[in-house]
Amino acid sequence: MNVSRNIVVVAIVATIFAINPSAPVQAGEKNDPSARLLRDASLMLLKEGNTRFSTGKPQHPNQDSERRKEVAKGQEPFATILACSDSRDPVELIFDRGVGDVFVIRVAGNIAGLSELATVEYGVGHLNTPMLIVMGHTKCGAVTAVAKGAELHGHLHALADKIKPAVEKAKAGITEADELVPKAIQANVWQAIEDIIKQSSVVREKLAAGKVAILGSVYDLESGKVTWLGQHPAEDSLVALAAQAETDQSLKPKSDEGHAAQVATEKHSDSQEPAAAPVKKVATQVRQAPPKVPPAAEPHGDDHGHAPAPAKQAPKLAGPGDHH
Ligand SMILES: [Zn+2]
Repeated sequence: MNVSRNIVVVAIVATIFAINPSAPVQAGEKNDPSARLLRDASLMLLKEGNTRFSTGKPQHPNQDSERRKEVAKGQEPFATILACSDSRDPVELIFDRGVGDVFVIRVAGNIAGLSELATVEYGVGHLNTPMLIVMGHTKCGAVTAVAKGAELHGHLHALADKIKPAVEKAKAGITEADELVPKAIQANVWQAIEDIIKQSSVVREKLAAGKVAILGSVYDLESGKVTWLGQHPAEDSLVALAAQAETDQSLKPKSDEGHAAQVATEKHSDSQEPAAAPVKKVATQVRQAPPKVPPAAEPHGDDHGHAPAPAKQAPKLAGPGDHH
């Protein structure tokens, strides 16, 4: 009964978005209500999961054998997340999600190098996740090492080269030395997003079509809370500049298959998703979401307009344990 009610509620939310002409429309969105519904639902699931985790009330959804068998047939994750490899930064646990829920890329310093770009494109461009999260974390060793000018050995310089621009930007905006690392961690999140937008036409096309939103975030190792930074402050201009640069090179032979072209292809059921499929997909994900914890436990932070109407609907979304 609750499952049916959830689907009905999601359908109502979808209808509201479809018929509400005054709903805020973001640049490049092209008035696609189903795309916005997917983005908002994705963020809602992540926020609710992090609240459960950080308040010590995880529900461990989608971790049983039934779910394992279900997603063995094909994956439909609802978010792509680029995070650090730090052992204290376990993405599925932080968002209290299970098997097949999130497409995760972890690399020291959550940088966007070539392999990370390719994997992001696989998640956003092939698996069609409506949300791309870049998540830094407090006390990040990779960022700290670069900020403090530590001597690096082996291949670590490859990481440092991607982090250095963020550290330089952070240095310009601080007055006290101990502000550097926290500022650099945040600047490094923006740097990764900038690198993704500048270098990936696959992601830019998804952005322009409103099929994906890119949000920055920082995970706090001690509180377990994710602070949402919102969209890159210069997202629109980054997209425009990258598109212009691409136009300037239009006479060159086009080899724009995307960074994910060399990633082994995977059988995926939604390669030609019909118009109704997004709503069905959200309904499935929300149905699997455990009950929302009390609003008082919501994480801090501002998502710059991404705190959606669906989030306000969340208390109505009954979970498997809600019926008494
Ligand atoms: Zn780290």
